[in-house]
This record gives sequence, structure tokens and C-alpha cells, in this order.
Amino acid sequence: MLDKTYKEQLEAWDKTYLWHPFTQMQDYIRETPLIIAEGNCVFLVDVNGKEYIDGISSMWCNIHGHRKKEIDNAIKKQLDRIAHSTLLGPSNIPAIELAKRLVEIAPKGLKKVFYSDNGSTANEVALKMSFQYWQYKGFKDKTEFVALQYGYHGDTLGTMSVGGIELFHGAFRQLYFKTHLSPSPYCYRCPMGKQTKDCGLSCLDELENIFKENADCIASMIMEPLIQGAGGMITHPAGYLSGVHALCKKYNVLLILDEVLTGFGRTGKMFACLHEDITPDIIALSKGINGGYMPLAATLATEEIYNAFLGEFSELKTFFHGHTYTGNPLGCAAALASIELFEKERILENLEPKIKHLQAKLKSFESLEHVGDVRQCGLIAAIELVKDKTTKEPYHWEERVGIKVCIDARKNGLLIRPLGHIIVIMPPLIIKTDELDRLLDIVNLAIQNITNK
Ligand SMILES: *Cc1c(COP(=O)(O)O)cnc(C)c1O
Repeated sequence: MLDKTYKEQLEAWDKTYLWHPFTQMQDYIRETPLIIAEGNCVFLVDVNGKEYIDGISSMWCNIHGHRKKEIDNAIKKQLDRIAHSTLLGPSNIPAIELAKRLVEIAPKGLKKVFYSDNGSTANEVALKMSFQYWQYKGFKDKTEFVALQYGYHGDTLGTMSVGGIELFHGAFRQLYFKTHLSPSPYCYRCPMGKQTKDCGLSCLDELENIFKENADCIASMIMEPLIQGAGGMITHPAGYLSGVHALCKKYNVLLILDEVLTGFGRTGKMFACLHEDITPDIIALSKGINGGYMPLAATLATEEIYNAFLGEFSELKTFFHGHTYTGNPLGCAAALASIELFEKERILENLEPKIKHLQAKLKSFESLEHVGDVRQCGLIAAIELVKDKTTKEPYHWEERVGIKVCIDARKNGLLIRPLGHIIVIMPPLIIKTDELDRLLDIVNLAIQNITNK
């Protein structure tokens, strides 16, 4: 625990100097800030010494828990050699080793690794790559993109252009390039107005219509496979992803899969697209890449795409992109250690029973009066709260129901963050069954406390 005056000082400085992301600071400065001092396994500890289960994996990225010995040591070992050197020109040892390892574990056919620092840049790179690919192939009109409604690919202008969340993405509308939005397969609130069972995935017909009319102008389609994260943890029906893949092939559109969230085991397999046995043309990876330790991202592409950028110096072909910290040795060393842990600790095998356990336990939420929908994908669960279960009428945003549930949970030692009125549960993959039970009990109680008022 920290000294009381230092703690008060930190709280004051936080309010004076920091501007928090996605936060109304006028509200923030009225509250006592939660300041994390340390972590251990699935737990976070604040400056008062209070412990919390890290119920959202420190913003969806932690895999092996905090202060994982093997990753800590890999970073320390690398630190004794060098912290950073650039990939613009020279190479470095961990970046080379990791690129080889990523290609080995990636969906078959993805052969080339382009590094950046975060999920947004990984997708930005993917979008630029797909655009430039067609330019070099002589398809000069392929300058537009397709994305899904409720999709989220990052906060840079490029990735916001392909974003489908009105609240975030509406604010910058005038600045965007042309993107066609296709309906999201959000079964609980089906955009086609159908019942899940006999829908025949008719939302794919809408996508096909977009392709039919515009394929000559479309460079690529970008989507989050299996589950759309920030848009509300919207889980897709089986067959949707392979349907999109087939349509992209049919209409000569590149498929970019944003596996920033789903990559590295989160859905139960190493990558979500393996559930439907498809390989995209480009995949974007970040959050779990080094166990959630530090900023690192990778965009993997097929040989076909890579080869389109090859040419004589005089042709001036180059992929014009590169960040200062690209392929940072510390981040890459951490990633190598994290990937090794997947094998050594049989992370995916051990995850299977936990996913089943979560599924069974989630049943107890369905009967709650204000729970409209309970969704799960691997070790992600989402509970959509509604004002009226029969009509599916959502809570009004001003009621701040999601936030209130999370504040209640915090009192009982669980840190979670909602998406509007959708409660998100996404602990580190190594969480133990009894810890998962405790987490779910806290959430269940919090929902009852807030919605039964
Ligand atoms: C978090 C996220 C991003 C953005 O990643 P940042 O590292 O926050 O830039 C992109 N796509 C998906 C699916 C994400 O969940």
C-alpha cells in the first residue's frame, strides 16, 4: 500500500494532467480515480491495496495473467542486449524470430509479416496494402472498401472510415474515404427481421448486392471474424464467415480479417478463422500477441499480395508505411515467450473445459428479468441488458445501466467495463474455474442489484 499523502497526490495529478481515452473528463474529475499499482495472475491491485479480478483482461489483451515469469524474464533478457533498434533498414533478432514463428502458427497461406504498434495501425496497414495491391495490379478503380455495421477496427482516420459504430464513428464522418456498410449478423436484433433458425443467412444477400453493384470499385472487405467486439460483442451465426469468404472470392475482393481481438486463443482456437477453415488475404493481429504486455502488432499477408509490391528500383514500387517502433525487440521477445507458453502450458487444451463451464454458468443469467440476450464466443461473454425483455426495448443510454452494474461489481472486487448496456466478461485465458465462478457470481449479483430497483 502507498503512503497516504503520495496516494492523494497521485489522485490530484491524475485529474490535473491526464486526459483519459473515451472519457467525459468533467464526470471523471468528480469521482475518486481507480489507480492500479500492481498485478498478479488474474488480479489487479489498486493504490489502496484492494484486489480486483481483471475481468476484461486489461482491455481484452491479457492472456497469461499479470507478472507472468516467463514473459517478464524474456523482456529482462532482451533488455540486457538492446531495448530498441529500427527495422527501417537493419533487422533485429527478436523481430526475425517472431516473424518466422507467426507464419508457422498463422492460418495456412499467410507468409509475410509487417509489424506495427497497435490494432489500429495493424488494420490501417491492411487497408493500405489492399488498396496499393490493386493499384499495382492495374485495377485503378478499386479504391473503395466494404465493412460491417457495428464493426470496429481502431481509432485512426483510416480505420474509422471503415467503422460501423455510429456513436464513435459519426463524429468524424466528413473526413472519411468511401466505405459500403453491410448489415451485421446481429441475430438478437436481426437486421433482416428474421428468426435465427430459418434465416438462411439472408444478410449475406445484402453483402452480395453490394458486391454485385460495386465490385469493380472495391479493394477489400474488412471484418472481425466470429464476434464483433466494440460494437457490442455481437456473435455471428456459423457459416457467416465462410459465406463472406466465398463472396469475396467470387467478386474479386480481398478479405481482411481483423483478428486484433480474436487472435491468440480468445475464441478457443489460435485464430477465429480456423473455426470455419478459411484463410483471409490479410490478417491483422495485436491485442494478445505478446500476452498483453506492450504495444506490438502484426499484419500478415499472402505471397500474392507481397509479390505485387516487388519490382525494379526504377519502378518506385514500395509499400509506403513504417513506424518508428516497428518490430520493437522488447515487444517481439515478449511475443515469442507468450507463444511458447501456449505450447508449454497447453493453453488451448486447458481452455476448452473453461469455455464449456462458462457456457453452463451463463444459463443462470437468462432467467433474470432484464437480461435480453446472453452471448458467448470462446472465453468472451456478453450480457445484453434490456428495459423490456418481451419487446427487447433497450435501456435509454442516459440511465447508464451498464456503468452502474460495473461500479457495483467493482465494490465486490471485479473490474469490468461495459459497452453501453452490454456487460462484457473477458478474463485472462489462464483464469481458474473457481475464479471464473466468483467473477460470474459478482456480475450476476450486480445485475440484480441495479436492474431490480
Ligand atoms: C481493440 C481493437 C482494435 C484497435 O486496437 P488498438 O490497439 O486499440 O488500436 C481493432 N480491432 C479490434 C477488433 C479491436 O478489438
